[in-house]
Amino acid sequence: LWGQAREELQKIVGADSFATWIEPLRLTGVSEGTATIACPTRFLSDWVARHYSNDILQVLDRIEGPVQRLNFETRAQTARQAAAPAKRVAAPRPVAANDDLAAPLDQRFTFENFVVGKPNELAHAAARRVAEGGPVTFNPLFLYGGVGLGKTHLMHAIAREIQTRQPEARVLYLSAEQFMYRFVQALRERTMMDFKEMFRAVSVLMVDDVQFIAGKDSTQEEFFHTFNTLVDQGKQIVISADRSPGEIKDLEERIKSRLQCGLVVDLHPTDYELRLGILQSKTDNFRQQYPGLKIAPGVLEFLAHRITSNVRVLEGALQRLFAFASLMGREINLDMTQECLADILRANDRKVSIEEIQRKVAEHYNIRLADMIGPKRVRTVARPRQIAMYLSKQMTSRSLPEIGRRFGGRDHTTIMHGVKKIEELRSADHSLAEDIDLLRRLLEA
Ligand code: ADP
Ligand code: MG
Repeated sequence: LWGQAREELQKIVGADSFATWIEPLRLTGVSEGTATIACPTRFLSDWVARHYSNDILQVLDRIEGPVQRLNFETRAQTARQAAAPAKRVAAPRPVAANDDLAAPLDQRFTFENFVVGKPNELAHAAARRVAEGGPVTFNPLFLYGGVGLGKTHLMHAIAREIQTRQPEARVLYLSAEQFMYRFVQALRERTMMDFKEMFRAVSVLMVDDVQFIAGKDSTQEEFFHTFNTLVDQGKQIVISADRSPGEIKDLEERIKSRLQCGLVVDLHPTDYELRLGILQSKTDNFRQQYPGLKIAPGVLEFLAHRITSNVRVLEGALQRLFAFASLMGREINLDMTQECLADILRANDRKVSIEEIQRKVAEHYNIRLADMIGPKRVRTVARPRQIAMYLSKQMTSRSLPEIGRRFGGRDHTTIMHGVKKIEELRSADHSLAEDIDLLRRLLEA
């Protein structure tokens, strides 16, 4: 019957609103004129109660027989009630901070599952602090770093922790892309008031991968207003991006400066110890999934040495290894590892080439690739060229004469001069140093 009611509701409220608000609901029962509806989160139930109660009541009344009242239950309550009679332990938390507006939170992305090492300890500490809502909080908290270094993991962990500590808090986690999608939808359907109201009703707003809205002018504008309103009301904001605010191109200056006025912390590329730690922790999880599987000593160390790109790749490699070994009924040893992960290992062996460096740098500074090797001496061309020389020296094992040859047959002393120049500038010019770090990260990705 709920199925039929849903169909009617969809006709009444329209497909999009239905998908956003009604779809996640479940009718759990009707008794004495009260229909009980289960909702994944409190945020969602509040919203639905305010905006759709009449529609739902009418439809249910028609289909189910007399219904005069709605009783919304969040999954937290449902779970607690279900668990209560048996044992007096806390029910497992529902997927926190989540409703159809938000992206789902990954159950595995908790603080407990986050392995802390030198490269991420600052970001982790800041995330903890914000999640605990201590006396000194950072607002906004801006987390940035390369692909697969744990930004999304930390954001989910924060959302979950806040929701656990303050079940009443409305934590809204979503990607910048979803933010834009909702915004555009609201424009199209002329529901901007609802959109604004909805965002402004949250207590914690978390937007992942904010670089996505760079260049999207009206979305940026709306984001900026939402952001300001929430900050002014003392609401916590957490943002992530693949680069620092200053490095995001096509992002308005006023947004950059607002993003910078809280705490900006980065997740550095992993080092060997962190990778090994993560491998050990993931292995413990896999052992439960594949009981009885053996791993020969040295395998994890080998992986930590050889797979340096990012944590996601590392995880994928381990996953494949376990699946393969369990299929073959064999122990995981070095031979198997090399055979089974040949492609991943090869990809990680790949070193950056001078050509790639020239291309990326030219792209970044909007100059022609040909000017990298050409003779032009104007600063706007010569400086990027020197940066490319510097990165070539740093990131490849080529000698100065070899680098010179690839920069249009320049002399090795020219290359040396270029490298020195950038080294000097780097320590004096903060924004140049940031540029170079960014380029390096892009090249390493
Ligand atoms: P990002 O959002 O920065 O691209 P994710 O947060 O999605 O990266 O992380 C990619 C994968 O690596 C996820 O499965 C995540 O759990 C895992 N991961 C990243 N860093 C860590 C860490 N320090 N400890 C445990 N797992 C991690
Ligand atoms: Mg992410």
